[in-house]
Amino acid sequence: MAGWFPGAGAALLRRAVLMIAGAAVLLAPAAAAAQGLIRDPDIEHGLRELARPVLAEAGLSPAQVRVLLVDDRRLNAFVIDGRHIFLTTGLMLRLASAAEMQAVIAHEAAHIANGHITRRISNLDNARTAAAMGVLIALAVGAASGRADAAGGLATGIASSAMGVFLSHTRAEESSADQAAVRYLVRAGIDPAAMLRVLEVFRGQEALSEGRQDPYVRTHPLTRDRIRALEGFAAAAAGGGGRGGDTAAYWYARAHGKLSAFVNNPAATLRAVRADDRSDAALIRRAVAHHRQADLGAALAAIDALIARRPEDPYAHELRGQILLESRQFAAAAQAYGRAAALAPGEPLMLAGQGRALLAIGTPDSERQALTVLEAARARDQADPRLLRDLAVAYAKAGNAGMASVVTAERYALAGRMEDAALHARRAEGLLARGTPGWNRAQDVLRAAEAVENRRRRG
Ligand SMILES: [Zn+2]
Repeated sequence: MAGWFPGAGAALLRRAVLMIAGAAVLLAPAAAAAQGLIRDPDIEHGLRELARPVLAEAGLSPAQVRVLLVDDRRLNAFVIDGRHIFLTTGLMLRLASAAEMQAVIAHEAAHIANGHITRRISNLDNARTAAAMGVLIALAVGAASGRADAAGGLATGIASSAMGVFLSHTRAEESSADQAAVRYLVRAGIDPAAMLRVLEVFRGQEALSEGRQDPYVRTHPLTRDRIRALEGFAAAAAGGGGRGGDTAAYWYARAHGKLSAFVNNPAATLRAVRADDRSDAALIRRAVAHHRQADLGAALAAIDALIARRPEDPYAHELRGQILLESRQFAAAAQAYGRAAALAPGEPLMLAGQGRALLAIGTPDSERQALTVLEAARARDQADPRLLRDLAVAYAKAGNAGMASVVTAERYALAGRMEDAALHARRAEGLLARGTPGWNRAQDVLRAAEAVENRRRRG
């Protein structure tokens, strides 16, 4: 599996930042709203499995379009470039089936396939560095909550109009995306009525004041006409769904179950999982809930039951690693993550976990190994804030304050905190030799921060 965000040069970043600088004035509230991404390899794999048939029908490569989870309780789904579909945790928890998740993904895929994003902000495809991604994610998450022109045509200045152009779709685009999404769903054997069930969640919200609407309603204008048209598409396609849903149902149950177990009260999770439910998803939910109650024995019993059933499942070993690491069993955690990484070569989130556990062991030898593993993870994935935090520690322990500052700058940028990012980037600039890769990465962050700051000053 290829890594993502493959190395983008400073020129690409500069172009991307200039393209988005028009909207960057909005970053202050956006950054506060942005919780960042949830990077869980099991959940991301589940999202990949759900997206795969839909993306294929949309003519998009499942290897190139990632579905990422934004840690936000509000309900939203959006695209900001041609390579990423973002769903909020709030939306994922609210949707009740694999088909509903796939309907949302199909609709977003249609926005990509129909060029609704790239037509307006064509260069955003180039925003692949941590700094540019951070600006974009912060903007995207915050934008939905702060729009002043939701009714359309009532732009109240640069800020709201820039943001409106950035994220929101026109009614014509919504209609064409709905139509295309139903086509993808039917061809993929998924019941298109799932899209109607998704819209039911938002029905009636177009009449609410903005503050009470879910952001999804603002990024995807919802009208009675739209629902009526969709009912027509779905009725015309009736009977098209239903086949081949086993894989999707399995991964949906796992991803939804794991997320809910991490978010919800653990006692409630344990009550909700039926005693006779021995499914993989139930074992994962129990493992997470027991772990969050600090019951290591019960958590390990649940995850080990899953591993006994699926010894080659990298994500089961990864969860075992997390449970052990957070229970301060560092050596055993490093071993579990190592097994996960071996079973899923190329999955940077496994390497990140392994590096974190090695770092926690705290011997000079394990810290050296940690640095190697974490650098390998970062080379494949620049959008993992926790990895960047660990990597900064590993560099600091190795006496490399310059690189520690670079990755700290990138981590702040990823969270949309550009002033903090610039502070650390300047520190890195002073510590690293001019023209070295680390120095260049610090320059990337400084350029991104400068573009945001200039825009803010101009107001
Ligand atoms: Zn839409």
